[in-house]
Amino acid sequence: MALDPAPAEPAAEAPVTSRIVALVSAGVASSRADLARELGVAPSTVSGRVTELIDAGVLDEGGAGESRGGRRPRLLRLRPDGGHVLAADLGGTHARLAVMDLTGRLGAVREVPIEVADGPEAALAAILEEGADLAAPSAASSAASSDAAPGARSALRGIAIGLPGPVDVVTGRVESPARMPGWNGFAVRDWLAERAGVPVLVDNDVNLMALGEHFSYPRRVEHSVTVKAGSGIGSGLIASGRLHRGATGAAGDITHSRVSAAGEIPCSCGKLGCLETIASGAAIVRQLRAQGLDVTTTADVVRRAGDAEPAVTTLVREAGRHLGEVLCTVVNFVNPDAVFLGGALSTLEPFVASVRSQLYEGCHPLVTKNLVITRATTGPEAGVIGAGRLVVQHVLADPGAFLLRD
Ligand SMILES: [Zn+2]
Repeated sequence: MALDPAPAEPAAEAPVTSRIVALVSAGVASSRADLARELGVAPSTVSGRVTELIDAGVLDEGGAGESRGGRRPRLLRLRPDGGHVLAADLGGTHARLAVMDLTGRLGAVREVPIEVADGPEAALAAILEEGADLAAPSAASSAASSDAAPGARSALRGIAIGLPGPVDVVTGRVESPARMPGWNGFAVRDWLAERAGVPVLVDNDVNLMALGEHFSYPRRVEHSVTVKAGSGIGSGLIASGRLHRGATGAAGDITHSRVSAAGEIPCSCGKLGCLETIASGAAIVRQLRAQGLDVTTTADVVRRAGDAEPAVTTLVREAGRHLGEVLCTVVNFVNPDAVFLGGALSTLEPFVASVRSQLYEGCHPLVTKNLVITRATTGPEAGVIGAGRLVVQHVLADPGAFLLRD
């Protein structure tokens, strides 16, 4: 995959085209001969791909490099206006947008107020408009080269968007989302692709966050579980460096696992006793309100736990314990290198400590031996990093598909 963490060290399994872009942008290779040597593939293969990338406007070739006994090679470089992608992570009341260049480097990031409840057309139109605005001043400077012509504007090559609900990645449609009125069955991918004229990928927000965490972690990991514990609970699984979506895209949906401690509490899914009903931010809000405390959002919970209010801290700790119990089964089964804890609740030490102690207590020693259990390190940017890398990989897998028309 092209989703390697460091552009200078592309994963061996990444498509040749992605690795060419990464090597050239990192300055590791500056000629076709360098590339053939670095990649260990036939010069004719390299030449074919380089020509594609030049035709597509991603690379250019000029000047003359140093001779190593023969004709002086022409120098390759990433075109300053060679392109960028737009990554979007849509939450309930806001969207985080980011521009990323084709080497996977994050450029400008912006959070904009967008209401999911306004329906898909309003929300997606706002994302396109804000995205274009975000790219206008910054894309040239984020495009890996500092010698961009003033005012140079890089081309939009692709869009990836994470949505807070179940997504059919094959059709790019939202499937029976719980908190996205008007979105059920809406063709998000086609709607955006028609208007933007570039490839569009749509995925679940936690899947993209899991990709972002996995590939941003400073040490190379092969298998990881990322949990987002906020108002709701979601998780994503990366196995052997690839996102595992499952047969129907529901992989990682631990929130509706039945736990005995939840008894018969009704859940948003229509069943009883789901993990979500006792371990989510929304569940903590409900329990605190039942105790007569004035809290309405998960942010209130986080703030009051930060002030070490005993009633709040107790519930936060219990939520971590319940989540940890369910995670034990997952971690024993998957045997990951790392568990990344994200979402608002994971900013609270008592929550993280509870999850961690449950995992150490409930998992086989061989499973926890080298297991990293850590707070998500990329913070709120994880979703757009994952989205951006996914679509960059998609775009570079077929540069011929976005040949510059002018
Ligand atoms: Zn449920």
